[in-house]
Amino acid sequence: MTQTVPASADGGRAAGGAGATRVAFIGLGHMGSHMCRHVIAAGFDVTAFDLSGDAVAGAVAAGARARGSVADCVRDAEILVTSLPGPPQVRDVLCGSGGGSRPHVAGAIDALPPGALIVEMSTSSLEVGRLALAAARERGIALLDAPVAGQTIGAEAGTLAIYVGGDTADYARALPVLEAIGNPARIVHLGGHGAGYAVKLLLNLTWFIQAVATAEVLTMGVRAGVELDRLHSALVNSPASSVFLERDVVPLLDRGDYDEGFAMKLVTKDLALAVDLARDVGVPVELASLVEQIHRRARAAYGDEAGEMSAIRLYEDLTGVQLRRLAASDG
Ligand code: NAD
Repeated sequence: MTQTVPASADGGRAAGGAGATRVAFIGLGHMGSHMCRHVIAAGFDVTAFDLSGDAVAGAVAAGARARGSVADCVRDAEILVTSLPGPPQVRDVLCGSGGGSRPHVAGAIDALPPGALIVEMSTSSLEVGRLALAAARERGIALLDAPVAGQTIGAEAGTLAIYVGGDTADYARALPVLEAIGNPARIVHLGGHGAGYAVKLLLNLTWFIQAVATAEVLTMGVRAGVELDRLHSALVNSPASSVFLERDVVPLLDRGDYDEGFAMKLVTKDLALAVDLARDVGVPVELASLVEQIHRRARAAYGDEAGEMSAIRLYEDLTGVQLRRLAASDG
């Protein structure tokens, strides 16, 4: 992955002091912990909440003020940033949870002051996005979908790509926070609500289709008697090349790195959301559905936490072909 120097944002007005924009940050996991740290470093006045006490302690060490619930975290916020696992958590945090025999837990939209802006940065669904947008509008709260790409390494470096959907004025208002988190050259406003979620799901789908295609052609080529390093070089220097072949699969070929920075439970969540989107918009996607099932099979074989390249391992195990370049094992 290409990394560039992180941007400095002066949108915090004063380094966490009087007059600094008040930002609430909810969801401090692999991605959110780093993103929150960059927002604090850019001078925003940050309150933080996560279900995990350890995650909150990490944010406090970086300069945030801890809060004990979603409602407490957002009560005085001008901007709320969320980085949550997926649609159910986004719905609970924004719209509230409970109901039936369970106690109602207030969501952020109930508790934010009118005029606030929510920047929802999870990989989530357009459906939950629409639900949250309707609830937010009723309270005079603005909402952007702003999912990210760039893996945990990009979150750590502050160089994520960010795909934004929503109103132009809200995008402009969010930009100082987004520039603290991502690479300004890779922050894009793609259109109205849902456009950010859609593009993120589509780019992931494209990448995971390529993972399966690459696994098939590399195992076939080796079985056909072509030495892996030469096969790989020939493909990279052909019209069939891609960033996936040229760059992303190389750590696997060199040292068997299946990339645990992005777990199979998230891979299959994202692919299911992409297939749901196809259904939503009425496009038949035989290939995407098949590829989703192959990644599900890999998750079942190697576990929820297995690395995102696990579908390639599936082909290695099925064929007895270990995709390792000779050059690497020589070294
Ligand atoms: P994660 O599971 O590490 O972090 C999610 C955090 O949300 C956890 O700390 C969890 O405790 C917290 N959380 C869950 N439910 C909550 C609730 N109701 N209230 C408060 N906190 C709650 O996930 P992650 O890897 O940081 O990913 C976050 C989002 O970013 C996901 O949507 C993921 O698909 C997306 N993403 C991840 C990567 C990656 O490489 N990890 C890359 C791009 C996009």
